Amino acid sequence: MSSPRWDQHFLIDRRAIERIVSLVDVRDRRVLEIGPGRGALTEALLDAGACVVAIELDPMLCEEISARFGSEIREGRLRLINGDATTCDLPDFEFAMANLPYSVSSRITFRLLGMDFREAILMYQKEFAMRMCAHPGTPEVGRLSIMAQTYADIQPCFELSPNAFSPKPQVRSVVLRITPHAPRFLINDRRWYGEVVKALFSHRRKTVRNGLKSLSGIIGRERLQEGLLAIPEDILSSRPEELQLQDFAEIANAIPANP
Ligand code: SAM
Repeated sequence: MSSPRWDQHFLIDRRAIERIVSLVDVRDRRVLEIGPGRGALTEALLDAGACVVAIELDPMLCEEISARFGSEIREGRLRLINGDATTCDLPDFEFAMANLPYSVSSRITFRLLGMDFREAILMYQKEFAMRMCAHPGTPEVGRLSIMAQTYADIQPCFELSPNAFSPKPQVRSVVLRITPHAPRFLINDRRWYGEVVKALFSHRRKTVRNGLKSLSGIIGRERLQEGLLAIPEDILSSRPEELQLQDFAEIANAIPANP
């Protein structure tokens, strides 16, 4: 079975829609919805009193939404943007809610994590959601878990079977609550921190010492050696999956980024 274009699996389970929207009190709040599709969540958000900005890539679905919610658009309670949520300007918002297009979940999540908002309720493919929640120090942890948990609390809410959607996806889905926070330890340079986490998990079977070698291509061997001297031996001899969250910051802060 091939996936529909732009991951168009529409929510049809009324109870699931109500459960998702009831996870936050959206009355009079500015809510960003990504990929409204035919408007299943949009309608529930509007019924709950939210002011919604919805970004939809598919122009045909935008026409459908405009026709269905004409009066809400005229009243200013719904603004519809025909655009790509991975690249278009995102408006200010307090809450985000979405049954995400799974093929761009990662790009959209990282975009949102760079923004200032109160909470996001987002649905993901189950495996992706589990990786986001995986605890540091366990074999399941990866770059996504570390980056997401550095900037937010991630809490699984509930799981949905393919029967909640039409057409049915081949995977199960999980709804996550994402509550952003400032990093809980010092990060000197956020961009560099991201590079270091990426380098380490690109070589997840190697020790930190060996995994970091790939950074010499960016900062040069000498600067890398200088940085390694400042990192405790127990961290250098561990694998990335054995590290705690603050160890990644300690590594990134110890290695001088570009001058
Ligand atoms: N929210 C609707 C629902 O739950 O029934 C639809 C969810 S469907 C899984 C994903 C939606 O995101 C589709 O309407 C699709 O056209 C839209 N979409 C896909 N890629 C997108 C992107 N890059 N930017 C904005 N919308 C996108």
